Amino acid sequence: AKAKGRNNYQFFAKELAVLSSHRLSLRNKLKTAIEEQQFSLVYQPKVTTKDSRMVGVEALIRWNLPDGSTIPPDEFISAAEDNGLILPISEWVFEEAIKQARSWMTCAPSDFTVAINMSARQFQKPDLVENLVALLAKFQLPARCIEIEITESMVMEDVEAAIRVLSQLRSLGIKIAIDDFGTGYSSLGYLKSLPIDCLKIDKSFVDEIHGSKADRALVSTIIYLSHVMGVQVVAEGVETQEALMLLDEMTCDLIQGYYFSKPVSADAITEMLRDR
Ligand code: C2E
Ligand code: CA
Ligand code: CA
Ligand code: CA
Repeated sequence: AKAKGRNNYQFFAKELAVLSSHRLSLRNKLKTAIEEQQFSLVYQPKVTTKDSRMVGVEALIRWNLPDGSTIPPDEFISAAEDNGLILPISEWVFEEAIKQARSWMTCAPSDFTVAINMSARQFQKPDLVENLVALLAKFQLPARCIEIEITESMVMEDVEAAIRVLSQLRSLGIKIAIDDFGTGYSSLGYLKSLPIDCLKIDKSFVDEIHGSKADRALVSTIIYLSHVMGVQVVAEGVETQEALMLLDEMTCDLIQGYYFSKPVSADAITEMLRDR
């Protein structure tokens, strides 16, 4: 048993070494990616549930390696959040998305919004608001064209501070959405005190709405409460017509998902805007 324990220890130490060298090399690769601009943004339409009108898009990052392969954000965002590289990455994302939003102003309806995912670290930076103001000024983009998506857990970290920052952003005219709603630990009661415009119901609930009565009740309650508080609701990850029809019955305002469109290039969005 002793020998086995020792082997286990050696095995474990080796695993740890592999893990940390993996982490290191990911860090180095991300650094190269930033320097060599290997990132790009794709955009996924958000459409009205009632009549499929595209009212905005969400910007989603992609990491394109020199060998032609693409790494999805789930494989590097949380590592970048841990090692701090999320800050320069986010800076690039915001600049790129705002530049793109500006160029869509000529062909999009006036209430068209570009939603950008904010990282946890970025949300905690004291100069966040002034940086955003400067960026909007640089590209001469009205604040109302931008929506910022933050998660429940980012809010729950420090509710008071979050409310302060969100209020400032909103008073500039920037829209605020709570992302992945239902997956965190916040209670529905918080909805009443958060200065937000939009709530995005997580895909995991949307996936279950035809199978599970409980999920259906949950989703319809979230929609009802949101509307009472003047908050718009987006259902995320809608893949089927059945889900769309149920969501329409529940008076969900907007849907985002493969059923309408996968995330696509900026040029593809421009064409959709011109064709409408
Ligand atoms: P998210 O913010 O919840 O974004 C929605 C994700 O669901 C996207 O994955 C989108 O492609 C995917 N999706 C949309 N509709 C459907 C559907 O009908 N079916 C399925 N199976 N999936 C659907 P993606 O692009 O891989 O992004 C994953 C996550 O990475 C995002 O989740 C977000 O948390 C993070 N992320 C993406 N871009 C950025 C970014 O620029 N900055 C930061 N900080 N995080 C980002
Ligand atoms: Ca999002
Ligand atoms: Ca989401
Ligand atoms: Ca998600």
